[in-house]
Amino acid sequence: MTAMNLTSQPLTLDLRVTFRIAHGASDQRRNVLARLEDGLGEGAAVPQWGETQEGIQAYLERAAGLVGDDPFLIEDVMERLPAGSQAARAALDMALHDLVGKRLGQPLYRLLGLNPDRLPLTSFTVAIDEPQVMAERVRQSGLPIIKVKLGSPDDEAIVAAIRRASDARLRLDANAGWTRQQAAQLIPRLAGYGIEFIEQPLAKDDIEGLRWLRKQKLGAPIFADESLKTGREMPALAGAVDGVVVKLQKTGGIREALKTIAMARALDMQVMLSCMVESSLGVTAAAHLAPLCDYADLDGPLLVANDPFSGITYEGAKFSLPERPGLGVVWKS
Ligand code: MG
Repeated sequence: MTAMNLTSQPLTLDLRVTFRIAHGASDQRRNVLARLEDGLGEGAAVPQWGETQEGIQAYLERAAGLVGDDPFLIEDVMERLPAGSQAARAALDMALHDLVGKRLGQPLYRLLGLNPDRLPLTSFTVAIDEPQVMAERVRQSGLPIIKVKLGSPDDEAIVAAIRRASDARLRLDANAGWTRQQAAQLIPRLAGYGIEFIEQPLAKDDIEGLRWLRKQKLGAPIFADESLKTGREMPALAGAVDGVVVKLQKTGGIREALKTIAMARALDMQVMLSCMVESSLGVTAAAHLAPLCDYADLDGPLLVANDPFSGITYEGAKFSLPERPGLGVVWKS
């Protein structure tokens, strides 16, 4: 057999509205499309993780000599890859799963033994802006679950304005934007508006701070996002948080995401499956794992103006998995 052909190309996404979070703002994301024979995958260039389009493509170029000739040996291929870009690893792992599914003529969720009727609803993300602008976006969306980006000087005013505009279920994401003292003061006040949980209130390495916050029972469950990439960080988080946010772009793909979810369960943590700013390609790959998760935050395609792919479909907050083989993602015609 001959070695599989791995190539990559830029996949540049324009955002519908400026995406401002505690880490910074962007109008465009320069992601990467990986092609392994007929298999497709996406790597997201996430600035705060140091991932760039050039870095992801350079990693995939090096990986081209290591993929071998058999897409069914996913564990072997992933093991052979050097450490480096998690986004590039995610793109290649997705492409391997896509290729295997296409060769077998089965959608990924079936290969994983998962029920496509057991999907949590997804949240819709509202990025940081003036409180009234954010509240108006929530109202206009008409959606029942909103993820509110915080970590600005107006955090309480934002949540208050959104709560006046909508009775949606609210999840808050501080993106590591608060100090311990700010978090300890803010969380009980924000909890008073009726929220489901708070993501990453503190700096990613401040695990003891997360544990300290959680012990105080401030009225809202605390989830870790930036504090973990893979299952390797899970043991340290045991007892420090109520749940974790799993993303293929952090884990480096589906195989490691499955392990991370299993570890969360073993440690009695809840799991939210989420995405970066990604097209329907990367988000659909993640969505196949949604039956294993308590919460979904899979709104990437809703934030992108020029998504070149069709994959999962949305009906309000409800999404459905494609039944086509592999990831089930196709180019828009
Ligand atoms: Mg987050």
